[in-house]
Amino acid sequence: MEYKCPECGIRLVLQVQSVIVLPADDRDDEVSLQLVECDHCDYQAVAVYRENRRGSDEAWSFDGWAVPEGLRAELEAAISSCPRPQDPRCGCAGHQKAVETSKKISAGPYETFRMDPD
Ligand SMILES: [Zn+2]
Ligand SMILES: [Zn+2]
Repeated sequence: MEYKCPECGIRLVLQVQSVIVLPADDRDDEVSLQLVECDHCDYQAVAVYRENRRGSDEAWSFDGWAVPEGLRAELEAAISSCPRPQDPRCGCAGHQKAVETSKKISAGPYETFRMDPD
């Protein structure tokens, strides 16, 4: 799946190798973080997918976060150190780090944008 880059409007590519699924938190049943980068202008961001299956309505969101390079690098290191990034029950140090990074990301103040399918 391809998305529109918020910077140049061309093509944002999900880096499929760089995704980590986090355990459910007090807000969401599924949270995953993924590194994304533009094919065209080198714009980089972190995409956050959240899904909530509690209550009658199923709700989900998929947003891009323009986080600083340091935070993105932190997440990248956490993902690559994890043996089972797709497993929300994996309790490795990388997963713990990714949970922390996710909190830092949502604590902001970073610009966000909707991940719009192209
Ligand atoms: Zn771009
Ligand atoms: Zn892990």
